[in-house]
Amino acid sequence: MLSITVGMEITHLGSGSRGNSTLLKSGSTRVLVDCGFSLRQMEIRLGLVGVEPTSIDGILVTHHHADHSRSAMRAAKLWGASLHANLGTASRMGWGPISECRTFGDLERISISDDLSLLPIPVPHEDADNVAVIATNGDGRRAGIVTDLGEPTVELKRHLSGCSHVSVEANYDLRRLMSGPYPESLKRRISSRGGHLSNSQTAEMLAEILHPALDSIVLCHLSEKNNAPHLAESEVLLHIGDRYSGDLSISKQDGPEFSHWLGQVEPEGGVRRLSVP
Ligand SMILES: [Zn+2]
Ligand SMILES: [Zn+2]
Repeated sequence: MLSITVGMEITHLGSGSRGNSTLLKSGSTRVLVDCGFSLRQMEIRLGLVGVEPTSIDGILVTHHHADHSRSAMRAAKLWGASLHANLGTASRMGWGPISECRTFGDLERISISDDLSLLPIPVPHEDADNVAVIATNGDGRRAGIVTDLGEPTVELKRHLSGCSHVSVEANYDLRRLMSGPYPESLKRRISSRGGHLSNSQTAEMLAEILHPALDSIVLCHLSEKNNAPHLAESEVLLHIGDRYSGDLSISKQDGPEFSHWLGQVEPEGGVRRLSVP
């Protein structure tokens, strides 16, 4: 029997403390996880990957911090997209539930279309009600988008173990953070249970969730002061390099630089480098 594969495409439009947004495409459905750049920057970055902003169906905001939420409401209204956030985030943003924003509960599946659904998983992060997102396409292929958490939970790891693609933050190198310019209180906050994942926490988590069907990993939300791409990459390779043969990429602040495909045959193993400035 002929089966139609819709696939799923994952593109980081940029990632870091100055803004985050990830574009998910499956069939004719287009969704953004976070909308943390200015409206103008969002439209420029979507334009670079050939996506008309008004074609965005939905925007899910993981938590209220500005680097994830900055232009979400304005973009949703202007582009005619549905806006999704949990109650904690909606109230911190001053968004009216029902009238302006569709609220979701922990682990409550959000069906955007037959081609794409999103599962929010609560993660510990400062004073925020943050969620990681597992996106599932019409073929049952899954991608995890995970940023801004002090430590991975058992539940999160269980869900990531079924993903073909994982985008996860590698926020700081512990030695660089501790010897760097930040005040002691901020160093403690970043490295606490409610802060961000260090390179070694991320590497250890990836070693735990690694499975043969994991095709691609993107390290994201790297601190520009307390990390460097080569540090994050080498730490992850140290932990999984001998068992992992998929693609390992790093998303930087000034994206988009590449897209990953799940469920489609691509010449370079499901990753395409974008030729954008
Ligand atoms: Zn953030
Ligand atoms: Zn945050």
